[in-house]
Amino acid sequence: MSIAAASPGEQGSHPRLGSSGAESSQTTNAGQLPVRRRPGQLERLNEQIANGLTERHGIQVYGFGRPGVDTGTVRDIVRAVDDMLAKYPHARVFSMEIGDVEGDIARAFEDRLPNTDRIGTRIAFSEKYVTDPELLAKDVAKAIQRGHFSPRAERPAYGTIVHEFGHALTFEGRSAAVERADTHLFDHYHRTFGHDNPGGELTESYKNWRGQLSGYSFWKEGDFHPTEALAEAFADVELNGARASEPAQVLHKMLVDTAEPKWRKEGLL
Ligand SMILES: [Zn+2]
Repeated sequence: MSIAAASPGEQGSHPRLGSSGAESSQTTNAGQLPVRRRPGQLERLNEQIANGLTERHGIQVYGFGRPGVDTGTVRDIVRAVDDMLAKYPHARVFSMEIGDVEGDIARAFEDRLPNTDRIGTRIAFSEKYVTDPELLAKDVAKAIQRGHFSPRAERPAYGTIVHEFGHALTFEGRSAAVERADTHLFDHYHRTFGHDNPGGELTESYKNWRGQLSGYSFWKEGDFHPTEALAEAFADVELNGARASEPAQVLHKMLVDTAEPKWRKEGLL
C-alpha cells in the first residue's frame, strides 16, 4: 500500500484514530509510577503476539522481535489477519514480515510456498512505519483526507493489512480479476444506469461513477489501476460495509467470486 502517489480525489472522512502505541517501553499504571520493562522484554512480547499467527494459521513471521517495533501496531496487524482469515479461511497467506518496502506502508507479494509447488501470498510491513505509530497514523490520515485511500475508521495498520489481504485474494483469482475489473464495472454501470443515458455520454458519466473509488485506484495520469482498485475496493467494503461506494461493492463481489472457483477446484469449499 503506497501513500507516495498523490492523486486528486474526493475528500474522504477523517478516520477515528485511536491512541496509537498503547504499550510503549514505559506504560503508566493508572497515573502511578511507570512500569519499567526489562531490556528485551518488549521485543519478546511483540514476537509472542506475532507468533500467534503461526500457531493459529501456520503463517511464518519474521522481524517482529526487532528493537523499536510498536506493540499496538503488532496487535493491529495480527488482529487484521485473524479477522480476514476468519472470513476467508482459504486465502493463502503464508508469511508476514517486517522489512524494507521502499516507502510503502506494506506490500503483498505472490510467491511460492517453501518446499512446495503451491503459490501463496507474502505480506511485508514497513519497518519505518511499524516502529513509528505516530508517523503511520499521520500519513494514513492525510492519505484518507485527500481521497487517496478509501475512508476507514479502523486503526491504520489494521486498514493497511486489510488492503494487502485484497491483493492476496486477487492472486487467488489469478489475473482474471485484474483483467476483468474495468469491463465488469462498466457492464454493471451499463446495466444499472445505461438506459438513463442513451445519448452516448456513458463514457464520461461512467468515469464519474467509477471515480467514487479512492484515488489510489487510479494511476497519477488518471488511468484505472485494476490491481490497486481491487485491493482498495476490498478494503472499502471490509472496513465500511454498506457505506462503501457502489463501484467498490461491485469490485469486492467480483474479487471474492473470482477467488472462489479456485478454492472449490481445490476442494476447499
Ligand atoms: Zn496495494
